[in-house]
Amino acid sequence: MRPGASGRCGVRVNRNGVGTIPFYGRISSAAMDPIEKKPLYHFRPGASILSLGFLGCNLFCPFCQNWYISQSTQADTRSFSPEEAASAALAAGCSQIAYTYSEPLVHIEYLLDCMKAARERGIANVLVSNGCLQKEAAADILALTDAANIDLKSFSPDTYGRTLGGDLAAVLDFITLAYRMGVHLEITTLIVPGLNDGETELDGISGFLKELSPLIPWHLSAYHPDYRWDAPPTEASGLEKIARRARKDLSYVYTGNIPGETNDTPCPHCGSPLVRRRGYSVNTNGMVLKEHQGKNTYYCTACAQPVPVIRY
Ligand code: SF4
Repeated sequence: MRPGASGRCGVRVNRNGVGTIPFYGRISSAAMDPIEKKPLYHFRPGASILSLGFLGCNLFCPFCQNWYISQSTQADTRSFSPEEAASAALAAGCSQIAYTYSEPLVHIEYLLDCMKAARERGIANVLVSNGCLQKEAAADILALTDAANIDLKSFSPDTYGRTLGGDLAAVLDFITLAYRMGVHLEITTLIVPGLNDGETELDGISGFLKELSPLIPWHLSAYHPDYRWDAPPTEASGLEKIARRARKDLSYVYTGNIPGETNDTPCPHCGSPLVRRRGYSVNTNGMVLKEHQGKNTYYCTACAQPVPVIRY
């Protein structure tokens, strides 16, 4: 960074030769969301989650749907200390905080403080991220993360490098590390027609996830034109076709961003629906939460087996 300039993320500034973070604790939005909106379908289904948004991003996806906060630092913010964030969640009767909307990892110093404050109060940390982070920092943040939804935007190093400004290898490493560290993990791919919807590329993603675990949920999200990308939106029928193909590799493939979508989660033992979803309306009557050996565990109400695919 030149003296006085910021880095590509927009939130780190060279002041007199020292890298500073003037946006520490500056929140662009704080809202209570359904956890399904992150999207997380297999972690505390039906819960509300305090969702904190930031400014800036280390990528520059030309179809970004949050570009007004990811590609600019001009939007209004307010200060929110880590302790205030944890207290706000508890005051709302909420036991989970999401770091989300643009790219939280460019605020890693704040995230580490906030996640520690949350953990000390029994609040779960949810990271929603592009996963472009070096290994050493990844280990620090994932040690404090309970659940994550990571974007895997493409399986082409060229698309990551030239079109998005990221690094596919770093994202694959981040996802692998998150899985190995025991973080509850779900993956999202925005299906952009003509950019990442080829069968070979999508087979590459489902094959990579299958090798980690075929039980990792994969969310296929419909794109619509935004920011600098004006290709026609993803068709619902095309998205469903991609989902059907991916289900040969993965047990839980969901479609998103489609009006009237239904996405149920079947029991891995007997196939009865554990969770029924109609948009953000969630019915969890297909399972019951019980304490087992000091841990909260969901059990299928039809076959009475524990269902480890849904994490508390
Ligand atoms: S990584 Fe996410 S927030 Fe950042 S530019 Fe891409 S879509 Fe936008």
